[in-house]
Amino acid sequence: MTAIPSIIENITTPVLAEYDVVVAGGGASGLTAAIAAARTGARTALVERSGCLGGTATSGMVAQWVGFFNGDIRCVGGIAYELAMRVQAMGGSDGFRRYTMAEASASPVTITNFPFNPEIVKIAADEMAREAGVDVLLHSRIARPIVNGARVGGLVMESVSGRQALRAGMLVDATGDAALAAAAGIPCVGEEPELRRQRQPCTLVFRMSNVDVGTFRALPREEKRALALSGLQEGKLAWESLSFCSTPGERDAVCLMSRIPDIDALDVHDLTRAEQIGRQQIKSIVQFLRERVPGFEASILGGIAEHVGVRETRRIVGRHTLTEQEIVSGTRFKDAVALGAGPMDLHEPGGTGVDLWMPPAPFEIPLSCLLPQSVEGIVVTGRAISATREANGGARHMGTAMCLGHAAGVYAALASRGEASPAQPAAERVRELLRSQDALVSSDEAVALERRNEPLTTA
Ligand SMILES: Cc1cc2nc3c(=O)[nH]c(=O)nc-3n(C[C@H](O)[C@H](O)[C@H](O)COP(=O)(O)OP(=O)(O)OC[C@H]3O[C@@H](n4cnc5c(N)ncnc54)[C@H](O)[C@@H]3O)c2cc1C
Repeated sequence: MTAIPSIIENITTPVLAEYDVVVAGGGASGLTAAIAAARTGARTALVERSGCLGGTATSGMVAQWVGFFNGDIRCVGGIAYELAMRVQAMGGSDGFRRYTMAEASASPVTITNFPFNPEIVKIAADEMAREAGVDVLLHSRIARPIVNGARVGGLVMESVSGRQALRAGMLVDATGDAALAAAAGIPCVGEEPELRRQRQPCTLVFRMSNVDVGTFRALPREEKRALALSGLQEGKLAWESLSFCSTPGERDAVCLMSRIPDIDALDVHDLTRAEQIGRQQIKSIVQFLRERVPGFEASILGGIAEHVGVRETRRIVGRHTLTEQEIVSGTRFKDAVALGAGPMDLHEPGGTGVDLWMPPAPFEIPLSCLLPQSVEGIVVTGRAISATREANGGARHMGTAMCLGHAAGVYAALASRGEASPAQPAAERVRELLRSQDALVSSDEAVALERRNEPLTTA
């Protein structure tokens, strides 16, 4: 085997500050984790490589929150719901709506979504983090965790200020890739050579402006499907989808229509290729929309997301691994800290379809899915929790990721003052605190809430 050439660096890294809790990644789960930790009394920092908070919702431009409702049952409360209500109050959304996901595909499913203007989410996220007292560091890429034996004690990051370290009583890995957990030696799945090339496809999201959204929405589903299939056949579309979300005013279409297979998003060459192929696909899709799709005749390309959307990389092997069977059978967990709503959503790795269906009821996610088996000082949240690939397909929506972040933040605050650990997670205390912060932690509570729920805005 040829040795990989390497250089040895001797680096002295200054410690910028010390916190009770440092959250790595400011996306769906990291934002809520940081707010929760700070509200639970921890001195908290939030480190994010982009120039804004929100993650896939903002820099990825995926402009709809899914996972808040299973049928008519609301599964998400707490910080996530508060953020949604603030975005709506700021004019960034018309609220929850009925929406047919992947309408032009072979397996559409009707859900309740919360479409929003990502620019307003950026502003609301800044405000909520600031009001909670979180120290936010943007444009800061995390390089590695600080590991002492079997304990994580902070992280090293690089920014325009150079290479710096943050010491932490507890670290929350909300990178979506379990980047810090993996580097700290926590076992992960998803990186096996045969799986690296079998991941769900990536999507580069783009926004069309000056769209007549009403005209498009009024088309019968069969017509949309026929258009999508002919676009595919002609090589102009990338998959069986003409799906988009629209911001208030109904003049914008935020399109999830590109589909880039065979990408290992943990490889820089693949990630580069994904961005470039994504932009080529967008060029072709835009032309198809303008020439062939009613409502798009006068539209123009208004923007492309800052980075390609990644559905799947690695996940930790934690103290419990959530399975699809547990989701379908509604398994109850004593240490449940978040509720999933669905849909179950697995995109074919190589093909043009998607396997979409609703689980029969809200499902519980236990704290033990967020906790490593042995390493101390770190909790993992969001897309990288311990779940099988199929279960992850239903638990990775942003509504659920935000609940998982809320739980991780509360746990981290307690653990940073020695009141919780992987061996003694104090799950009942975490649940109690989550409830006191309006989160929903059991399926009973969600069902009880439904009985006195306010009506939805429907479209
Ligand atoms: C194409 C696509 C479409 C989707 N559609 C929907 C949908 O319609 N509705 C829905 O609810 N969900 C949807 N999802 C799923 C959902 O967006 C993600 O699963 C969810 O955002 C996961 O939350 P997270 O907090 O784990 O990760 P993210 O929201 O992705 O946040 C991770 C954050 O960590 C930061 N980060 C990562 N590494 C580093 C580092 N080294 N240093 C500093 N910062 C770092 C990133 O910049 C990012 O801000 C979609 C996902 C994709 C990719």
